[in-house]
Amino acid sequence: MRIVIVGGGLAGMTLAHYLNRHGLDVAVYERDTSIGAREAGYRIHINSTGTSALYAALEPELWELFLATSGMPNDDMLLFDERLNPRPGRDKSATEGIGVPTDIPEHLVVCRSTLRRILHLGLEKTVHFGAKATGYRSNPDDTVTVLLDTGETVEADVLIAADGINSALRAQRLPQVKVADLAARCIAAKVPITEETKAKLPAQLFNTFSLAYASDYTGLTLGPLERSNPDSPLVKKQDQDFQDEATKNYALSIFNSRVELMMPDAELFAATPERLKAYALERVASWDPALVETVRLWDVTTVQPLTLRSCGPVTAWEPSNVTVMGDSIHAMSPALGIGANTALRDAHVLGGELLAVARGDKALLDGIGAYEEAMRGYGYRALRMSAAVGEKVIGHLPLPE
Ligand SMILES: Cc1cc2nc3c(=O)[nH]c(=O)nc-3n(C[C@H](O)[C@H](O)[C@H](O)COP(=O)(O)OP(=O)(O)OC[C@H]3O[C@@H](n4cnc5c(N)ncnc54)[C@H](O)[C@@H]3O)c2cc1C
Repeated sequence: MRIVIVGGGLAGMTLAHYLNRHGLDVAVYERDTSIGAREAGYRIHINSTGTSALYAALEPELWELFLATSGMPNDDMLLFDERLNPRPGRDKSATEGIGVPTDIPEHLVVCRSTLRRILHLGLEKTVHFGAKATGYRSNPDDTVTVLLDTGETVEADVLIAADGINSALRAQRLPQVKVADLAARCIAAKVPITEETKAKLPAQLFNTFSLAYASDYTGLTLGPLERSNPDSPLVKKQDQDFQDEATKNYALSIFNSRVELMMPDAELFAATPERLKAYALERVASWDPALVETVRLWDVTTVQPLTLRSCGPVTAWEPSNVTVMGDSIHAMSPALGIGANTALRDAHVLGGELLAVARGDKALLDGIGAYEEAMRGYGYRALRMSAAVGEKVIGHLPLPE
C-alpha cells in the first residue's frame, strides 16, 4: 500500500512518523523548499490529546527531544480586562453551556516551528520538498495520481490531504467545504524572554496563556514558552539552525481586533512590521502599562498580520482512497488553542486505521470511513467549541452552518 501525504505540517508529519514506525510505505510532498524556508509559526499549546498522538508516533529519542524543547507552564489560562482586572475564568463565563472541559490536563507549550523541525528528523528521505500538489486523478485501477505544479506526477494507493486551510486537494475532494472569514484580524509577534524583559512584565502574565480584552473585544494575549531542557545533549546533537531556534525562550503575543475596528486589509497586509507594531501600540495606549509594555517588547522582526478563518462543517460523505486531515478539513478559530491538537489526533486515529488495513484486519475503505466518521465527531465538536468561545472572547463572527 503506497501512502502519499500532501503537506508536511504538524498533521502530515506526525502521521508519516506513525506509519514509518510501523513499517508502512509512506511519502510526503511539501511545497516549502526546505524545513527552514519560512517562519513556520509561533508558540502553540499542546494538550493531552496532542501529546498522546506525538507519543504514539515518535521514536523515543525524538519524543525526548520534543519534551526538552517544550515548556511546561502552570495550568492557568487567565482572562483580564484592559486594566488587567481579572475576568471570570473560561469555565465560568466564556465556555458556559458549551461543554468545554474545565480541567484540561498536561499542558505543554511548544514552538510550532521547532516541532516541525523535530518531525522532519529521521524522515529526510520520506519528505520531498519543493513539491506543490495542484490536484489528483482517480484511476480505473483504484490508484490515485497526484499532480504536482512541476508537471511531475506521483502514484499512490491512498492519498491524504494534509495541506492546511487552503488545501487544493480538499477543494477537489470535498468542494462543499467552505472556509469562512471570521471577521477578526490579528497582529502576532514574539516577545523575547530574558531576565531583562521578564522583569518588566508582571508575574500574573506568565501563565499558560493570558488574554486581556476590552468591551469592544480588542484583545492582547501573552503565551510564554520557556524551554524545559535547552542544554539537553539531544538538543546539542542537532545542527546549528535547530539549536539556535530551539534554545530561545519567548512569549507569543497577539493583538486582535474585530475587522471593522482594524486598519483596512489592504493596509494591514502591506504594512511594514514597524508600522504594525506602532499601530498596535496606538490601539492599546490607554490600557494597563504592563500591557502597553508587552507590545513595546515585541521583536519587530517577528511581527505578522493574520486573518482568523474557520472551515464550516459539512454532512457525512462517502469514503474513498483520498482523505483529508488537520486544517485542510477542520481549520478552526484559535480561541481554544486546539486546532493542532485536533490535527494530531487525526494522525493518531488515521494511522491506527491504516495500520489495521495493512495488517489485513480491515478493507481500505472501511478503515478510511471509520477514521472520517470519528474525525467528523471530535473534529467538528472542537471546531464548534472554538468558534463559540471565539465569539465570546474575541468577538469574531459565529460559525456559518
Ligand atoms: C494564531 C494562531 C494560534 C494557534 N495556536 C494554537 C494552539 O495554541 N494550539 C493548537 O492546538 N493549535 C493552534 N493553532 C492552530 C494550528 O496552528 C493548526 O491547527 C495546525 O498547524 C494545523 O496543522 P496542519 O498540519 O493540519 O496544517 P499546517 O500546519 O497548515 O500544514 C500544512 C502544510 O501543507 C503545506 N502545503 C500547503 N499547500 C500545499 C500544497 N498544495 N502542496 C504541498 N504542500 C502544501 C504547507 O506548506 C504546510 O507545511 C493556532 C493557529 C493560529 C492561526
